[in-house]
Amino acid sequence: MDEFGIIARHFAPLAGAGAFALTDDAGVIAARPGFDLVVTTDTVTEGVDFLAFDPADSVAKKALRVNLSDLAAKGAMPAHYLLNLTLPHSIGDDWLAAFAAGLARDQSRYGVTLLGGDTSAGEGPLSIAVTAFGFVPQGGMIRRSGARAGEAVYVTGDIGMSAGGLAVFKREKHALAEADRDALVARYRVPEPPVGLALCGLAGASVDVSDGLMADLGHVAAASGVAIDVDAGALPIPACLKDWWGAGVFARAATGGDDYQIAFTADPAREAELHAAARASGTRITRIGQVRAGQGAHLLHGGAEIALPRPGYRHF
Ligand code: ADP
Ligand code: MG
Repeated sequence: MDEFGIIARHFAPLAGAGAFALTDDAGVIAARPGFDLVVTTDTVTEGVDFLAFDPADSVAKKALRVNLSDLAAKGAMPAHYLLNLTLPHSIGDDWLAAFAAGLARDQSRYGVTLLGGDTSAGEGPLSIAVTAFGFVPQGGMIRRSGARAGEAVYVTGDIGMSAGGLAVFKREKHALAEADRDALVARYRVPEPPVGLALCGLAGASVDVSDGLMADLGHVAAASGVAIDVDAGALPIPACLKDWWGAGVFARAATGGDDYQIAFTADPAREAELHAAARASGTRITRIGQVRAGQGAHLLHGGAEIALPRPGYRHF
């Protein structure tokens, strides 16, 4: 099994328009008049972002979806992606077939196609770098810097499930029902980003929640020059996590990371439009706080600020 065999067998079937069946040096993205091309990249590495025994198809979905959540946060509709693989020699054809099958399923689910990539072998851990491309109406990409005092803060989906899944893997003591435990683990392995949520023109600022809700809202606060207050009691945290983590649940869920949801700000007077956009994309949104003059992102419960030793995950 050589590099070209791998590409022809496993990845060429995933190639879409502009990829020339992965037989040329480069691919082409056709320009769309009136749109900007939004670009993002994220790498997932064994032992850091997924675990050695995670199934190949879920590793594939995670590698792709952590990028789709960035595009969703920017209001972009995903279109294409590049795939750069550093494969340890222990990876075989069966693993690659399952990996490609996972990509194929997500390609049809999210309407994206493979445009190219690079394949190399390494002695280190398995590493997968995806670069994703999506389109927004020209000038419409939602920035971190657009939050204004008086806006409300919203989050999609739920918060903390992935941190719960990781805690299960780390053998933290728990008395979870089997179905809850399975759901947490499944979410750690495969995020559910709100792809298709049309926030352009509605959200002031938006960020992908990957390092931890409070860390990522802290980026929005800093970029926008505002303060963000989050009401811990309003956070969409699954009941099983509240039972498990007790009083510590707010801080843990809001700093755990790996959520791959979107946190955004918007004029609360336009909430009906927001809910319509959420319904149209099958996304749940929850109002969790407000933007005011000041600095930083603050997690509040019963009027008091919850002290957070670290607001989110850091690699260094
Ligand atoms: P180069 O020699 O320029 O690095 P390659 O031989 O690596 O080109 O790649 C040949 C073709 O296969 C290119 O179209 C490239 O985009 C594609 N390709 C290589 N690896 C992957 C991969 N992991 N996923 C998708 N396409 C790939
Ligand atoms: Mg190459």
